[in-house]
Amino acid sequence: MVNSGVEIKRSICTFCAGNCGVLVHIKGQEIVKIEGNPEHAISRGFICERPRYAAKWLNHPDQLKYPLKRAGEKGQNKWQRITWDQAMDEIAAKLGSLKVQYGAETLAVTEGTVRGALFWLRSRFCNLFGNPHNAFHPGVTCALNRYSIGQAIAGWRVCDKAMTPKKASIERTNCLVVWGNSPTESLQRASAWMSERRKDRPLTMIVVDPRITKMAEIADMHLRLRPGTDTALALGWANVIINEDLYDHEFVQNGRSVSTS
Ligand code: SF4
Repeated sequence: MVNSGVEIKRSICTFCAGNCGVLVHIKGQEIVKIEGNPEHAISRGFICERPRYAAKWLNHPDQLKYPLKRAGEKGQNKWQRITWDQAMDEIAAKLGSLKVQYGAETLAVTEGTVRGALFWLRSRFCNLFGNPHNAFHPGVTCALNRYSIGQAIAGWRVCDKAMTPKKASIERTNCLVVWGNSPTESLQRASAWMSERRKDRPLTMIVVDPRITKMAEIADMHLRLRPGTDTALALGWANVIINEDLYDHEFVQNGRSVSTS
């Protein structure tokens, strides 16, 4: 769509895993505005605050567009612009010497939540460098805690899907526990799904959080734990679930559930 010199392209937001549909307004080479796409099958026009500021962030004068090399002491915030060739040569020389001195595994490679092609490029780079670390998972900034717990408990990233609220699971459940999480601020798509679902059918909501979050204000039950005591609550619930035989045996034994309702 082109309107008064502004071209509108359909895309998706990848700031979080919600992937809401967006309309990107482009004038010349510049993104001037991003808004929700009302025709998107899942998000239906919804977007949170993050993509609304994406154009400002992208066009900000402090946006990093070329290599900068520290020109003073660490913390002095002094930088000099260098060429891509110089940057590549210096990084390659440094990595090469680290590899000779300590071995390829001296390098730790991390990323957020597998967005874009960076993960695959980095995997290839690590593979060529001789470093197996990217084989684990790139999740760091917002997902490493989940993957690490999965690795520690089960040896694999069992929490990957289970810990990201999905529309289908919100629609199916009758009791939702929001634990140490504030989706009205941090995962607004999920929060919108929860509100939609509550309009249709009763949905008991239990919020576990020492803070009075927006979610806590609308919850049926707000458990204001003393910080650091979550494990006691989790073990207590597990104890009741096991002793009163309230769990899905098929799921626990074989990882799949007989009932999907
Ligand atoms: S909830 Fe917000 S950040 Fe996440 S995909 Fe949708 S618009 Fe983007």
